[in-house]
Amino acid sequence: DRMVTGEFQAEDASDELSLRPTTLSQYIGQSKIKENLGIFIQAAKMREEPLDHVLLYGPPGLGKTTLAAIIANEMGVEFRTTSGPSIERSGDLAAILSSLEPGDVLFIDEIHRLPRAVEEILYPAMEDFFLDIVIGTGPSARSVRIDLPPFTLVGATTRAGLLSAPLRDRFGVLSRLEFYEAVDLCEIVKRSADIFQTSITKEAAIEVARRARGTPRIANRLLKRIRDISQVKEEKTISLETADLALNMLQVDDVGLDHIDHKLLKGIIEDFKGGPVGLDTIAATIGEEPQTIEDVYEPYLLQISFIQRTPRGRIATPRAYNHFGLKTEAQE
Ligand code: ADP
Repeated sequence: DRMVTGEFQAEDASDELSLRPTTLSQYIGQSKIKENLGIFIQAAKMREEPLDHVLLYGPPGLGKTTLAAIIANEMGVEFRTTSGPSIERSGDLAAILSSLEPGDVLFIDEIHRLPRAVEEILYPAMEDFFLDIVIGTGPSARSVRIDLPPFTLVGATTRAGLLSAPLRDRFGVLSRLEFYEAVDLCEIVKRSADIFQTSITKEAAIEVARRARGTPRIANRLLKRIRDISQVKEEKTISLETADLALNMLQVDDVGLDHIDHKLLKGIIEDFKGGPVGLDTIAATIGEEPQTIEDVYEPYLLQISFIQRTPRGRIATPRAYNHFGLKTEAQE
């Protein structure tokens, strides 16, 4: 398992519920999205209508599920969750939709992975709150219309581009979550430390924030590991020294990269003279799915300008060379 992936890992499960902020004001960072959603929520409540459907997109671990639950909480309705891959047949989705109470929030994670046939029954459900279900097969098949309570669909996906246009068009609100600034991540680390009833120095919190790839889920995971080591050292407050030691033990480097990032970057630099090199080739070099690289590994490397995407493939930037103490051909 990777320490610095934004994807959910089994070890996160025990704490995610307690660490999750439950109101917009507890949700740190993403100020633009918070401000917009705050207004939409207030307006919907004043009109006594459900909130418009919301699409949240961005890399894993940035707080999409958390935000969806907050929307339900702020609207004062139930929060129901499911995911694209877990809905196999239209009937599964029909059952979920017809069990909703008026105004409820239905969260569909990985909504880009809904089977096509299931996706199609969502269109009228989202637009006019009814289902068109075909019952039976062959000549005896007939279509039945089922009215639904008005509801809010909150969809989450790693990339909006993975969604079909007709589905994307049915969302009234599209919000892209950004990687968090270090100051915001630092707040998140301090808040989580409070919840864990441990104390951490400001310097140590900043160090965790710097090495957490702009991702709250990673920051929380690193904090937990550091706390363990601090406890063994019988520290009262997690010190910078311990944070640094623990992060080095976990093989998370000073910008939050691990051996897989190193392999990916060094592969481009050493095997392909810095690129350009195609995604599929990179995937084969490090033994990962191209889709995983695009959704999980690359966004942060792009964010910190270690790689660039060009029409002919990925290139490693001088910044990436510098990170390894190497010089580009032009610099030599
Ligand atoms: P996603 O659905 O985008 O993969 P989650 O919503 O599951 O991400 O967030 C992962 C964890 O990160 C949550 O359990 C929560 O503790 C923490 N988290 C995410 N966003 C924030 C935030 N804005 N403020 C504080 N904690 C956050």
